[in-house]
Amino acid sequence: MNERRIETVAVHAGTRVDPGTGAVTPAIHPSTTFERDADGSYPRGFLYARNSNPNRAALEECLAALEGGEDAAAFASASAATAAILLALEPGNHVVAPMDAYHGTSRLLRETFARWKLDTTFVDMTDAAAARAAIRTNTRLVWVETPSNPLWKVTDIAAIGEIARRAGALYVCDNTTATPVLQAPLELGADLVLHATTKYLGGHGDVLGGAVVTRTRDAVFERIRAIQASGGAVPSPFDCWLVRRGIRTLPYRVRAHSDNALRVATFLHGHPRLEAVHYPGLPTHPAHDVARRQMAAFGGMLSVQVRGDAARAMEVAAKLRVFTRATSFGGTESLVEHRASIEGPGTRTPENLLRLSIGLEHPDDLIDDLDQALA
Ligand SMILES: *Cc1c(COP(=O)(O)O)cnc(C)c1O
Repeated sequence: MNERRIETVAVHAGTRVDPGTGAVTPAIHPSTTFERDADGSYPRGFLYARNSNPNRAALEECLAALEGGEDAAAFASASAATAAILLALEPGNHVVAPMDAYHGTSRLLRETFARWKLDTTFVDMTDAAAARAAIRTNTRLVWVETPSNPLWKVTDIAAIGEIARRAGALYVCDNTTATPVLQAPLELGADLVLHATTKYLGGHGDVLGGAVVTRTRDAVFERIRAIQASGGAVPSPFDCWLVRRGIRTLPYRVRAHSDNALRVATFLHGHPRLEAVHYPGLPTHPAHDVARRQMAAFGGMLSVQVRGDAARAMEVAAKLRVFTRATSFGGTESLVEHRASIEGPGTRTPENLLRLSIGLEHPDDLIDDLDQALA
């Protein structure tokens, strides 16, 4: 495609009018197997659905185009995509990862991959000196996630990328929260981008999915591709179709989520019943300048710390009427979550913190709802 503007990519990449039927909207292909030619070749590119299938190929082409990468591999969840990246490393390799990585990512590193001799140092990625100090001669992977959950800390992607590059380590950015609409990690030095398509890309809370997008089709990506096919943690054709359908409106949704979140954060900032509001779009955010530099807007996620204890925070969540009490984010409806109780014992999340996924309702209705719940 000649046009690189993200709205056009979101609508067109990987989709074309079906030559057989003229269907404008892509079909769902549930077939697990594909016909070969008489000589045994399969010139249409599909052999068996775990290896590849038309819906997954269309989604992968679209994801690569959105991030400006050369290729992408779609998985059944972001956790499966993360596991594939970690499996592409070798036992004895060292990983530098953020202290506040998505808790599933930390858990994979601590509980599963530690047993397979991947050693991880968890650092505060907003402190470049700390990240640099964590590098060892056997460091092969540096992982960042920004803005990060649930305090929405902002990591300087280019600065940490320079540290990873000097160490000769693979550099991965989890771009789930910002999405390619707001942030372009591959342009800022990342080798791979990770997505939970479960969130904004799917966008409607009706499909689980993950993806790895690569800057270049190199040996590491080929290994991830092989793990995708042989490990088999792949999304169904219908899942791929749903994510691809969600992406069509992604740029418009993400801007609306961001506009609404900024309106809500501005209302909440300085509220007498709150101890803190965490949102990268507020000028008082400690890395607001970094966020302005590397993001087009500040996303739909924010957290508040209620004055009082966990019970008081739960009480506020219970009074909300427009927000639904549930985990996850990136759907059209606003959600509220008492994060510490989801993360369980040992969590670093403050007990008075509520995480808000700002949806696509009218922002004044969200503000009115928060206003009455905090009263
Ligand atoms: C949700 C999420 C994941 C994991 O996604 P799943 O599809 O549930 O495995 C990974 N990273 C981030 C930042 C997330 O928000």
